[in-house]
Amino acid sequence: MTATGETWRNWGRTEKAKPIRVERPRTAGAVQRAVVAAAGSGIPIKAVGASHSFSGIAAPAGVLLELDDLTGLIDVDERHELATFSAGTRLRDIPRLLARYGLAMENLGDIDSQSLAGAISTGTHGTGASFRGLAAQVAGVTLVTGTGEQLHVDADTNAELLPAVALGLGSLGILVDVTVRCVPAFDLAAVEKPESLESVLDSLPQRVAESDHFEFYWFPHTETALTKTNTRMPSGAARRPLSPVRRWLDDTLVSNRLYEVTCGLGSAVPAITPTVNRLADKLTGNREFTDASHRVFTTKRTVRFAEMEYALPAEQVADALREVKKLIDTSGWSISFPVEVRFAASDDLWLSTASRRETGYIAVHRYARENPTGYFRAVEAIMRDKGGRPHWGKMHWRDAESLRESYPRFDDFVAIRDRLDPSRLFRNPYLDRVLGA
Ligand SMILES: Cc1cc2nc3c(=O)[nH]c(=O)nc-3n(C[C@H](O)[C@H](O)[C@H](O)COP(=O)(O)OP(=O)(O)OC[C@H]3O[C@@H](n4cnc5c(N)ncnc54)[C@H](O)[C@@H]3O)c2cc1C
Repeated sequence: MTATGETWRNWGRTEKAKPIRVERPRTAGAVQRAVVAAAGSGIPIKAVGASHSFSGIAAPAGVLLELDDLTGLIDVDERHELATFSAGTRLRDIPRLLARYGLAMENLGDIDSQSLAGAISTGTHGTGASFRGLAAQVAGVTLVTGTGEQLHVDADTNAELLPAVALGLGSLGILVDVTVRCVPAFDLAAVEKPESLESVLDSLPQRVAESDHFEFYWFPHTETALTKTNTRMPSGAARRPLSPVRRWLDDTLVSNRLYEVTCGLGSAVPAITPTVNRLADKLTGNREFTDASHRVFTTKRTVRFAEMEYALPAEQVADALREVKKLIDTSGWSISFPVEVRFAASDDLWLSTASRRETGYIAVHRYARENPTGYFRAVEAIMRDKGGRPHWGKMHWRDAESLRESYPRFDDFVAIRDRLDPSRLFRNPYLDRVLGA
């Protein structure tokens, strides 16, 4: 939470800004009044969710609108398919809100701290070659545009705007509610184990195609991939959750607390990082369990880091990862954080990183106390060569001119922006860079 006069910072501590003032609207009407007031005084206004974006996408350039009081489930339709939430609802609250309807989100990313509006606005995704990102699960939204109008968009109303406003980078208006297409609640069976990196890369297309949700982590300076294969279970299948003690040991102690210590050590004495990484890939990732989908998809992340993630045509992923490995092996860098590889189905959203192509994601991370720039920029060059698209909520150095080439509907999106926010009320330096002023 940020108060007026305070500095706003993002989770990864890669961005900060000093908002002119902070407002916490409780209703759609209050959002509308805040937008009209900002427009009247010519001050930009920015909705902020959980501030979990690593890029400057959420950095307020004027008024900061915190939506932590605009949360909760508004409605579930009669067919129990569509659930409408206030835009500031955190993903972590959604399983509880949907429980009485027997519903769940179709897919989720690695954590659930984000707000629903923030997650869809940046193209947040999980993994699974047949499953699309969170924004592709959006069936409708209500937003307050830059002219102060409350606009509803769904399959029947202003439908032509849906592929833009469902993943709008926060540039088209302030979302006040979001309707999500849900699925019957389901369990996932998780198998996590260390495997040889080369054999995983050699068999990648089959592994990805045969699994519901396949991903892996590669710890630099090792030859090991920690694979995670999650299978959607039929209803009524036996549940074998991790015991609370095992979950705490794996997810809190080893993955976070011990990891914080080892990253700190690696940062102070870079030469020990390869040894520490070999230890990390032995300590983590060797378990099988079955649990409710949200408890398997998401984990807690308390060790702060910086991240860049690129979306590639899925068939390019193995070669791209081999190039990243070669880069690290020959660079002399000590990289303590793993590289994460995930997949997603193609979708039709104009600025989705998976727009119109089967997609694989490669994410690189660097411990918060280390400077990520040299590593990330070198990896970005590899990804650009392969037609990569950067995650909007993670660090990258692309601008509007180069992104236009990556997105066939880029100019259509900008035309919608001209219509919904003609005076650029929702602008900030990041949006000026990636969409143009
Ligand atoms: C530890 C960690 C793990 C992560 N894991 C994943 C992952 O597994 N997969 C993945 O794809 N990403 C992941 N991310 C990135 C994260 O999901 C995105 O950056 C997401 O946008 C963060 O949501 P937020 O609520 O914090 O949004 P913020 O960062 O606060 O805002 C992001 C954008 O949304 C806009 N916005 C927020 N609320 C509204 C609103 N009501 N109306 C209009 N615009 C709005 C903001 O203005 C801004 O443009 C992770 C990030 C962290 C820190």
